[in-house]
Amino acid sequence: MEDRGFDLGRRLEALEDADLRRTLAPVDRVAERGYFAQPSGGDIPVLESDAELVFASNNYLGLTSDQRIQDAARQAAATVGTGSGASRLVTGDTMVHHDLERLLAETKGTDRALAFSSGYAANVGTITALEPDVIFSDEYNHASIIDGCRLSNADVIQYDHCNVPNLRAQLADRADGYPEDESWLIVTDTVFSMDGTVAPLSGICDAADEFGAWVMADEAHATGLYVDGGGIAQAEGVGDRVDVQLGTLSKALASQGGYVTGSDDLIECLVNDARSFVFSTGLSPPAAAAASEALHISRHGDARERLWENVSHLRDGLETMGYDVLGDSQILPIVVGDRETALDLAEAVRERGIVTPAIRPPTVPEGTSRLRIAPMATHSQEDIVACLEAFQEAGEEIGLL
Ligand code: PMP
Repeated sequence: MEDRGFDLGRRLEALEDADLRRTLAPVDRVAERGYFAQPSGGDIPVLESDAELVFASNNYLGLTSDQRIQDAARQAAATVGTGSGASRLVTGDTMVHHDLERLLAETKGTDRALAFSSGYAANVGTITALEPDVIFSDEYNHASIIDGCRLSNADVIQYDHCNVPNLRAQLADRADGYPEDESWLIVTDTVFSMDGTVAPLSGICDAADEFGAWVMADEAHATGLYVDGGGIAQAEGVGDRVDVQLGTLSKALASQGGYVTGSDDLIECLVNDARSFVFSTGLSPPAAAAASEALHISRHGDARERLWENVSHLRDGLETMGYDVLGDSQILPIVVGDRETALDLAEAVRERGIVTPAIRPPTVPEGTSRLRIAPMATHSQEDIVACLEAFQEAGEEIGLL
């Protein structure tokens, strides 16, 4: 008989052979200050020390261990329930969701907001619901934007990373000879997770205005870190020029879920047409309540200030040692070139108690393997010094410095 199944074993072997197979390995975390202890299972080697410092998470404000946020989640679980139980449009809609959405809209200065079950779902649902004819997409945009573009059936035109003149050229090219009533969407991450670069949002808005396009900004790595808990749109003062501001609740906001903010009409359309919203169970109430509390803390506390102090201390120290640190955000990538050097540096740093895994192809282009260093607001000055010492010694040991 014919075998019409799937040879998954061979696929996994191919990944193994290419050194690209990834595995899951739970860790016993003590999230505060970015520590975790020995792994409790999985197949990664047992660590030498029993408490390492993590400089590689997206928990930028260190809020996943904040008591106030844990209490908010606990309270929502106790009063509203652990799960929404249905799509928001059926019986899954609660006041906890509306409170979060009000706070998000206020932070972003928009009419309204809508919470999704993840940032991934927010991107895919929003791009497809807009039904654009043409999408202009930064070449380094996140996978969830790329998947939204694919599912939308739009013509997708990539422009060079953070390059406004190139974007303009692509817009002008398309304007020449195509119908004037096409709907155009320019979409960009605002902080790029592997490069630490920040999108030139005002330049993008200028180009959009000139050609009549809409702008959609994914603030996943920026939400909660800038002015009053906003993102780059707020930092650059262009919140009212970005038609769709979107992000995740899972990074600085220490929870899980995604959101979109924008006009009344935008949110009403998404409530009706974003399939990842309509046909998916509402965000869990504890996650919504945790995100609300985190946003409140980010807006009113000093966590952002502490994060940026740590970022500048670490960036200055690494650059003084001779490392070339990319970008202009809280993410500090050090590009070392080939995969082996990146793995060697990650291992040498880890032997010194600092966790910054190597980022390799296919996540980043061949020849640009790197370590992505991400300090947290909860790292102490001693933690930053320990990280710097580890990078000094490790860099010398493997001949990079
Ligand atoms: N957009 C960007 C830029 C991201 O980095 C991520 C998460 N890595 C997402 C969207 C997806 O967010 P979530 O993890 O909430 O699905």
